[in-house]
Amino acid sequence: MNLHEYQGKLLFAQYNLPVSKGEVIFSANDAIEACNKIGGSKWVVKAQVHAGGRGKAGGVELIESPDQAVEFSKKWLGKRLITYQTDKEGQLVNSILIEECTEIAKELYLSAVIDRDSQQIVFIGSSEGGVNIEDVAKNSPEKIIYKGIDSNNSNIEDNAISIAKVLKLNDGQTKQFIPMIQNLFQLFIEKDLSLLEINPLVITEQGNLHCLDAKINIDANALYRQPDIREMHDETQEDPQEVEAAKSDLSYVSLDGNIGCMVNGAGLAMGTMDTIKFFGGNPANFLDVGGTATQERVTKAFKIILKDPEVKVVLVNIFGGIVRCDLIAEGVVAAIKEVNVDIPVVVRLEGNNAVLGAKILSDADIEIQSINNLTDAAKKAVELAE
Ligand code: GDP
Ligand code: MG
Repeated sequence: MNLHEYQGKLLFAQYNLPVSKGEVIFSANDAIEACNKIGGSKWVVKAQVHAGGRGKAGGVELIESPDQAVEFSKKWLGKRLITYQTDKEGQLVNSILIEECTEIAKELYLSAVIDRDSQQIVFIGSSEGGVNIEDVAKNSPEKIIYKGIDSNNSNIEDNAISIAKVLKLNDGQTKQFIPMIQNLFQLFIEKDLSLLEINPLVITEQGNLHCLDAKINIDANALYRQPDIREMHDETQEDPQEVEAAKSDLSYVSLDGNIGCMVNGAGLAMGTMDTIKFFGGNPANFLDVGGTATQERVTKAFKIILKDPEVKVVLVNIFGGIVRCDLIAEGVVAAIKEVNVDIPVVVRLEGNNAVLGAKILSDADIEIQSINNLTDAAKKAVELAE
């Protein structure tokens, strides 16, 4: 689960990391009061979306009067911000972070991720901050340092010093940097993060380290033990069909093809998508209805798949292991009737009572292509989608 920058910075502040004084607003009416509360005469206004690249897209501005904060808020609140990290629709802006403006001497890069190979949390640092780190990795990889932290945390200070050297920090800044890495590490562990990125980490005109941006991703599987963070979830930043599916406990990921897939089991869903691809088609989604493919779940799944206007055909591929195929077939028939599916549906049932299931499908008074073999079913779906 991703956090907004302002939420990430609240966590940073809890862990004694240096962030700017700021206020988040949800209405342009609150912009002037927020600027006055922060004080000073220069501010930065930042559209809050789950994506980076806002600066280049007009979602970050330096301002010198509270009126400009009102103007910026009116311009962005309720609109969608498109950056190189969003899709072509962009992300909805429903809050603005206003901060006191920091005078920057240099922009650096710092992040931490879980490295599965070394089974460590790895810090990544670069003297080239504020820019696209992927470009730095491609064009000047020597400017990036990677340091893994042992699980017993014994090498953290040495690693912080090594990173500080690559960032070209002076002694005073290195003294600030060591506790910064320790605090970030603690935050990473205690809040079950899977990624954190500060781009840019800056050296201010006064020579101090300061976190100017905050990107945080939390392992969704750990949310059950992070109630405070779960509260920060902003579903407006996610695909509406994915949000709806998650509420019904269906694993759904929307893709850009035109063959809707309804499958039980993640492995079978992947295999089905591969088979569609193999025959030249493109899946419109990944959807795992789970082990218990009941009529209710199949109906819900049809509704979600059909909300995607690109879908030209639905391929149902269900293995009757825990549930019998005849029951699934009855569920599929009832669901198609209830939802009023008006595009072709190809169904492949295998497993327990598969023959009986196929008979129920072919006897039904609705258009279903019942094919008892995945290769042929996938080929048929690809053909119908064309
Ligand atoms: P992103 O473009 O979505 O990654 O948003 P950032 O939070 O990284 O902001 C983009 C850029 O705006 C930064 O790289 C800075 O150059 C600039 N910026 C952000 N905050 C400040 C600030 O307080 N003072 C100054 N001078 N520039 C800022
Ligand atoms: Mg940034």
